[in-house]
Amino acid sequence: MNICVIGSGYVGLVTGSCFADLGNNVVCVDNDESKIKKLKNGMIPIYEPGLEELVKRNKREGRLVFSSDLKKGIRASEVIFICVGTPPKDSGEADLSYVEHVAKDIALSMPSYRLIVEKSTVPVNTGEWIRHTIEVFNKKKIPFDVASNPEFLREGSAIEDFMHPDRIVLGVKSKRSRELLTELYKPIKAPIVVTDIKAAELIKHASNSFLAMKISFANAIANICDKTGADIAEVARGIGLDKRIGEKFLNAGLGFGGFCFPKDLAAFIRIAEKVGYDFDLLKAVERINEEQKMVLMKKIENLIWNLPNKTVGVLGLAFKPNTDDTRFSPAIDFIEMLIAQGVKVKAYDPAAMGKARKVLKGRIAFCGNAYDTAKNSDCLVLATEWNEFKELDFKKIKKLMRQPVIVDGRNIYDPAEMRKLGFKYVGMGRR
Ligand code: NAD
Repeated sequence: MNICVIGSGYVGLVTGSCFADLGNNVVCVDNDESKIKKLKNGMIPIYEPGLEELVKRNKREGRLVFSSDLKKGIRASEVIFICVGTPPKDSGEADLSYVEHVAKDIALSMPSYRLIVEKSTVPVNTGEWIRHTIEVFNKKKIPFDVASNPEFLREGSAIEDFMHPDRIVLGVKSKRSRELLTELYKPIKAPIVVTDIKAAELIKHASNSFLAMKISFANAIANICDKTGADIAEVARGIGLDKRIGEKFLNAGLGFGGFCFPKDLAAFIRIAEKVGYDFDLLKAVERINEEQKMVLMKKIENLIWNLPNKTVGVLGLAFKPNTDDTRFSPAIDFIEMLIAQGVKVKAYDPAAMGKARKVLKGRIAFCGNAYDTAKNSDCLVLATEWNEFKELDFKKIKKLMRQPVIVDGRNIYDPAEMRKLGFKYVGMGRR
């Protein structure tokens, strides 16, 4: 099939490369010309394991091209995926102006039937608005369909998630769009859930909100563990082995971040509000998540006393491991809180230094590795659970630090081992 993917970010680039790898001809379009220039020159603007090889292979074999010419992409492709950003407004509502813009451009450029698929995460009823927008500008009354195909990939394992998803959700209105999408996804072995467009849109927000709720639930239990002396690792395992609950997403810590959970949760609260439902359950999920950073701050204060002019080393800046994405990263938010308290911050991340520098430039010291970060620190905070932080030489770290204090914001270390090594160690809800 000939496919156009509009928006070549984390989702668009992975979607386009994977569809090309499955044998389709794909044009990845972006209005950020510098991004397209890089991609044309074989440079990948984001860190995502396996993506570089995938892009190179499909480019070389002629199935994947990059362009900033949206019209050309639309003319060449029967199926068009919208993968542009839907960032949060101050109110928490999703900003859909990029989606509207693209819908208008599609209407003005399509020469014959097109299937327009929303892959960006959008509020329920956006499909209707896309259809309406296209109708307004589609003066020649060219036939078209709109469909919803929400994306569930996770940064850091995006290709694996795209190629082996738990399910594929297709929100469709016509037989033609259903057949086109079913054909396109045929090589991927996963259950296909066919719904109407509204249900597909709701499935994405409901899934992300549910997962965020699991994390906040685990964090709430971890806080009770801290107050009672129980260990969240034991409690989470005891809960998670119940198949109705499941072990995943019960990790207590600094809370969730990234470009999906916080914004999708906030958007879902506003969506519910708009239709007259007060989703206060999700408001509590948001509040617990925010409070986790304060919980961590209190732990540091309890261990090193007054914060101003103390030095805190932070391991990890990305919102999670295996990505360079720092959007809504709890690590960055936490560093902002430390700076506001007058703390001198040193930090290191294996992939996100470039992106973090843009936000924190001149306000913290960026280090070359974990050991530099530990050097002369009064406290070392583990903020992102990269594998390389699991394998550190802690005897060396202890010698380098001003005070041997470790606050494990992701519960990756064994408390007993850390204490045996002579550290003052606290985790989140750990004994
Ligand atoms: P991103 O910011 O990385 O990418 C969006 C891209 O769209 C940017 O490169 C931007 O330049 C481009 N763009 C904006 N307007 C455009 C236009 N008019 N024409 C062409 N290109 C345009 O965002 P992302 O992380 O890929 O997320 C995209 C959508 O997918 C969002 O709705 C997000 O919620 C959703 N999503 C993201 C993830 C994730 O893990 N990042 C997972 C699932 C769903």
